[in-house]
Amino acid sequence: MDAVATTPPAVLILLGPPGAGKGTQARMLEDRFGLVQLSTGDLLRAAVAAGTEAGKAARAVMEAGELVSDEIVIAILRDRLAEADCARGVILDGFPRTTVQAEALDALLAETGQRIDAAISLEVEDAAMVERISGRYSCAGCGEGWHDSFKRPATEGVCDKCGGTEFDRRADDNAETVASRLAAYHERTAPLIAYYRDRGVLHSVDAMDGIDAIAGTLGGIVNTVIGQRAPA
Ligand code: AMP
Repeated sequence: MDAVATTPPAVLILLGPPGAGKGTQARMLEDRFGLVQLSTGDLLRAAVAAGTEAGKAARAVMEAGELVSDEIVIAILRDRLAEADCARGVILDGFPRTTVQAEALDALLAETGQRIDAAISLEVEDAAMVERISGRYSCAGCGEGWHDSFKRPATEGVCDKCGGTEFDRRADDNAETVASRLAAYHERTAPLIAYYRDRGVLHSVDAMDGIDAIAGTLGGIVNTVIGQRAPA
């Protein structure tokens, strides 16, 4: 694992439409740099499964491929960011998704003297996203992501990472919902590319390549960004 000085903790953001590979790449960066992946989608799915008030409010919205309210998502993210492991530095995957969320994140980080080190935009073509999303599934045991065409386990039906044999497919990973999710991305989230460009922290990456090639590019950016951080 590369050495990372994380005082104050590093904050990285992965931007990109559904299917761009944010989750896959965030997990690879987590393994390589010891950072913590924070996925608001995962946190919301856990809230739905646990039947919390936030989960009850979010469920139908998520199934329709629309965005959950800023209020709910910001509250979930704030609580998670306050947990001790986030002192290792975080990679935000799927948050922020609106300008209101981006401003709330800036305010939250300011409270603890943190700031955003990099917002990395994964650039992809919409047309390819439906195939990427409809073929994906994950290990029920460890959460490792797999894909029918692009990333199959070495032994069919067995997770390479943990040996698990149970897999899940997300309820919203279907062609109909993908169209709404892509529309939500273009209308509400894509403006954040300019938001972070204006703040001098934007990096754009061609994410139509293979998973390992993209991981190499992202790793280079993260290494540089972390190397440039001023000591606390
Ligand atoms: P994801 O796992 O990031 O693809 O998110 C799955 C779904 O959770 C999205 O389609 C939204 O309904 C909801 N969601 C996740 N993150 C956010 C967010 N930051 N703001 C609003 N809704 C979100």
